Amino acid sequence: MLVGSYNVWLVLASLLIAMLASYTALDMAGRVAETQGKSARWWLVGGSVAMGIGIWSMHFLGMLAFSLPVPMGYDPAITFLSLLIAIASSAFALWMVCRAKLSWPRLGIGAVLMGAGVCSMHYTGMAAMRMTPGIQYIPSLFMLSVLIAVVASGAALWIAFRLRQRSSNIRLLRAGAAVVMGFAIAGMHYTGMAAAQFPKNSTCAMADAGLSTGWMALLIIVFALSVLSIALIISMLDFRMEARTAVLALSLDRAHQELQFLALHDSLTKLPNRTLLEDRLDQEIENAKRNGKAFSVLFLDLDGFKQVNDAFGHQVGDLLLIEVATRIRAIVRARDTIARVGGDEFILLADTAEPADAANLASKIIAAVQKPYAITDHDCQVTVSVGITLYSGGDVPRHELLKNADAAMYHAKALGKNTYCFFEVSMNEDAQKQLQVLHDLRLAIDRGELVLYYQPKFDAHTGTMIGAEALIRWRHPEHGLLLPGEFIPLAEKIGLILPIGEWTVQEACRQMREWRAAGYSGWTVAVNLSAVQFNHPGLIELVRHNLERYALEPGCLVLEITESTAMRDPDTSMAILQKLHQMGVRISIDDFGTGYSSLLYLKRLPAGELKIDRGFVRDLAQETDDAAIISAIVALGHTLNLEIVAEGVETVAQREFLTSLGCSSLQGFLLGRPMPPEQLLAAVAQGNAAWELEDVSLSRAPKLVAQIPVTANT
Ligand code: C2E
Ligand code: MG
Ligand code: MG
Repeated sequence: MLVGSYNVWLVLASLLIAMLASYTALDMAGRVAETQGKSARWWLVGGSVAMGIGIWSMHFLGMLAFSLPVPMGYDPAITFLSLLIAIASSAFALWMVCRAKLSWPRLGIGAVLMGAGVCSMHYTGMAAMRMTPGIQYIPSLFMLSVLIAVVASGAALWIAFRLRQRSSNIRLLRAGAAVVMGFAIAGMHYTGMAAAQFPKNSTCAMADAGLSTGWMALLIIVFALSVLSIALIISMLDFRMEARTAVLALSLDRAHQELQFLALHDSLTKLPNRTLLEDRLDQEIENAKRNGKAFSVLFLDLDGFKQVNDAFGHQVGDLLLIEVATRIRAIVRARDTIARVGGDEFILLADTAEPADAANLASKIIAAVQKPYAITDHDCQVTVSVGITLYSGGDVPRHELLKNADAAMYHAKALGKNTYCFFEVSMNEDAQKQLQVLHDLRLAIDRGELVLYYQPKFDAHTGTMIGAEALIRWRHPEHGLLLPGEFIPLAEKIGLILPIGEWTVQEACRQMREWRAAGYSGWTVAVNLSAVQFNHPGLIELVRHNLERYALEPGCLVLEITESTAMRDPDTSMAILQKLHQMGVRISIDDFGTGYSSLLYLKRLPAGELKIDRGFVRDLAQETDDAAIISAIVALGHTLNLEIVAEGVETVAQREFLTSLGCSSLQGFLLGRPMPPEQLLAAVAQGNAAWELEDVSLSRAPKLVAQIPVTANT
């Protein structure tokens, strides 16, 4: 037998290339597993080629490291075939480890097939030497080499499968695995080589014609290293790009989620908005239908929010809403949906099936909302009115539930606010009525259905009539005489208050001209202005125009604005009031004591009169704090040089008490109810303009219509 020898350097080089090839193989497996579709296929093809070339180079270097004492060479075609086998085996292995699962039987079959591939490559490569006589293999070593190939392949497949997902120390793990795999591959190769025996007279048919060994070793090393490192570099770059794409995708995803959140939530309170609420409500209804479960819808509307907004401005109003939302959220369960659906309107979908539970929940919310708030140094208070409707099966559309809860809420308001009310069918008729009223109101001015009633005002000490307050009424063709509380808030809401207000100022001025012509030149006429009207830029011109048109001295017109209107935006109010004051028009602060007066501003306001709210006058006789409050207001008024008017005087005792407290003028049912102008004149003629004008029309007292709740922004 010929004795072969090994070039140690080349053996070492082959071992290193085996390890590098293994590392590349593991990396490629990771790439194929991480990518999808087309790019996964490209990684499989590219990876197989690189890995195949790597393994084959190892094997071929191993062959080149071996030399016999006869000239040697290799058949290019057969050598190339062995390369193809290496690439095919690699492709198979990569494909195998990139399946979702790798079961033990599958791993077994894979190991055998891949082992067979590696062996084929090796022994085909050996055949490329074209030795005559043929190479003889020692069966035991040959079998051992096959066994090593199969076991090493199995181990390689298993490791590659386990290491294909990236983890924190993946590189180190892969490097370790590559070293082990490198030894296994080299082990197989050199065991196979050891099995080969070359008879003494062997000659190599390719010694001259084939590829010669000398320069080829270097070429192969360079080639293998280039292919493997190019594969690794591309893989690394691709991974980086993918990571960057992933970051981009993540931020896109976040932006998308944020947009979605914004689209479905209220930006102020971060509660779900109407869109999301409607979606949830639909789900609740479906769910309830399927499981036969009931739930409740609570419609919440704040009472007194507008006043806070008017008094302290929108910023405080916004903060108040956020605080209210927080308090409500603390009460409801995570499963429930609390949405903000309007300025101060919230809707709660609650998982409560029993009316008692819903009532309990409403009570809790009412109690939480009515606690005082301290917002940017302002103490304020709001309450909430709650309408409740229960869904207990059947085909009730979403909007019906919302409408019912809404109607119940208005009922709660009509019951005095700060309370809850369950829906009843009759409530919908009220809502219907309200719609009709809204429609009618648009036509009321043109149809001349609006009229002014006048309530006389008296000097507290002499008892002479000093003027009258114009109070609007609506002679509704069906509902009869409607009071301002029944349609003014509605008019404010739908923007009709401006034309109505213009008409009121004009009509009051016209009436005043008539009275003057009749000789009552000392009287004043007071007109109430709503906040919208007061802040409208046309107000000054409107007043000037009507004073001129009816040739009135400005001093006979009094404009009444409520305290909260005046305090809404003190600086703007100041500018408007200053202009009116300069014109000579008198200003009266109405309903004084109910708002959030700042004495500091009050002092600066060019008002001539304070009207004490009738709430204080009502309980006067019963020795309450009200007497103390009124004397304080009177004292304050005197220091600020203001006339003090008490309104709502209903009893003689009140009249006397208010006079003794120092009020300058009085107004109230005791002294004269609001009445049409001709009746006022008739009464004055009868009573000679002194105390207690009897409304001559009282025998035909106005028919009071049922209270129609109006959509007020309270
Ligand atoms: P206000 O300006 O405080 O008017 C006084 C209200 O108290 C009137 O109610 C009057 O009828 C009522 N009243 C007077 N004396 C007594 C009394 O002795 N006892 C009781 N219980 N009530 C008395 P009315 O006419 O229903 O008006 C309510 C409010 O509607 C007014 O309060 C005013 O703020 C507003 N208002 C009236 N007319 C107009 C108007 O033309 N334009 C605007 N924007 N608001 C108006
Ligand atoms: Mg008034
Ligand atoms: Mg008043």
